[in-house]
Amino acid sequence: METTMDTKFFVGEHRIIDVAGIKIGNGHPPVIIAGPCAVENEEQILKTAQAVHKAGANILRGGVFKPRTSPYVFQGLGKEGLIMLKNVADSLGMPIITELMDVENLELIYEYTDIIQIGSRSMYNYSLLKALGTVDKPILLKRGMSATIAEWMMAAEYIAAHGNTNVILCERGIRSFDTYTRNTLDLSAVPIMKMKTGLPVIVDPSHGTGRRELIKPMSKAALACGADGLMIEVHIDPDNALSDGKQSITPEQFSDIMSEIKRM
Ligand code: PEP
Ligand code: MN
Repeated sequence: METTMDTKFFVGEHRIIDVAGIKIGNGHPPVIIAGPCAVENEEQILKTAQAVHKAGANILRGGVFKPRTSPYVFQGLGKEGLIMLKNVADSLGMPIITELMDVENLELIYEYTDIIQIGSRSMYNYSLLKALGTVDKPILLKRGMSATIAEWMMAAEYIAAHGNTNVILCERGIRSFDTYTRNTLDLSAVPIMKMKTGLPVIVDPSHGTGRRELIKPMSKAALACGADGLMIEVHIDPDNALSDGKQSITPEQFSDIMSEIKRM
């Protein structure tokens, strides 16, 4: 009997997602996505990008439309930031990923980015997921902060059911009773989602913990349990970042993590 949680597309057959020639998933070397939470200005994105590129990151991240809890804080630079991100990435030969929050900006983001990021707050936005089915670019689908494994799987199915099977999953922590960490990074979701869906699964220890000192141990733990990559927030001056400074690491700390990962 068909239930509401039956998957049709992602049933465990391993998929490899190609991002500008970088292969993600099914035993390929872990992809490392790094960059600031948000693009703030030209100098910040350039210096951060140069540092993460030098340390060995494969893909540059940077939010330009930011889903912030308070409407009174920095909301991202929008198109202006997108152009900065793209120019800097092009100068280094790196693909980019940035978050799309609404259908309205799909065309704009599509034009510039290599991977479209769907944030935790948008995982349940079914009209947005349907629209993503109509594009031919890879989608990084973050787990909703209160999403069960089944709900997350079905969100991925929404995109596929509307025509796009290029989905990468990202575990970014779920809400729990504890407030010491920003979220509880559910690493058991990594092998579960890989086995159940066959999709590549990457881990975001930055939003997953909210704490700078936990990025290195949780990055190693994520790779040890089979993650196909990591997404890490890096800032040239974390204490003065316009968003997520507490969880952002310095280029030096990032480069230390990269050396350790290469040893693994
Ligand atoms: C982000 O990656 O900048 C972000 C907003 O993440 P999340 O959707 O996981 O909170
Ligand atoms: Mn962030």
